[in-house]
Amino acid sequence: MSTFDFSAYIADIPDYPEPGVLFKDITPLFADAVAMRATIATIAEHFQGQGVTKVIGPEARGFMVGVPVALEVGAGFVPARKPGKLPRETISVSYDLEYGTDTLQIHADALTAEDRVLIIDDLVATGGTLAATGELVQTTGAHLIGYGCILELGFLHPRDALAKVGEHELFSLVKVD
Ligand code: 5GP
Repeated sequence: MSTFDFSAYIADIPDYPEPGVLFKDITPLFADAVAMRATIATIAEHFQGQGVTKVIGPEARGFMVGVPVALEVGAGFVPARKPGKLPRETISVSYDLEYGTDTLQIHADALTAEDRVLIIDDLVATGGTLAATGELVQTTGAHLIGYGCILELGFLHPRDALAKVGEHELFSLVKVD
């Protein structure tokens, strides 16, 4: 495990995007070449040797982290997008938010039962986004290896949400309890 101080590159932004929310801004981690390199290398190193064939990243910060991790582990990349963004036939999953629901889609032919899939995002809060993406993977018959992210908001208990999808590892670089 890296000894790099990832948390030094994550900014706390009070009252964004609305009053009372403390937003974790990961853009400084990507703006610094050394910090970005350490981020991607540490996540990828953790999942090396597990035969990952596809990385899925939810829109949009999951693309920033997922694509370089996929390159590093020698896997392809599949974007999970909001409705109406993918041009071909899709499969969808809807999940509950604090107020309302959200939907993620992947192309229907993006995964096969032979795939070994890693789901990557920047941050896990309630776990709703990663869990929904995990369900989407499982509907394809592909094997879900686990989840990786930069920051885990442990006080929102994302591991409880992920446990409902099955027993899969969650690897996070920084955990806030
Ligand atoms: P969850 O579904 O686990 O509640 O929320 C995680 C999703 O919302 C991720 O896709 C993440 O990008 C986004 N998100 C929620 N809160 C934050 C935050 O404070 N900072 C960042 N960078 N993303 C957040």
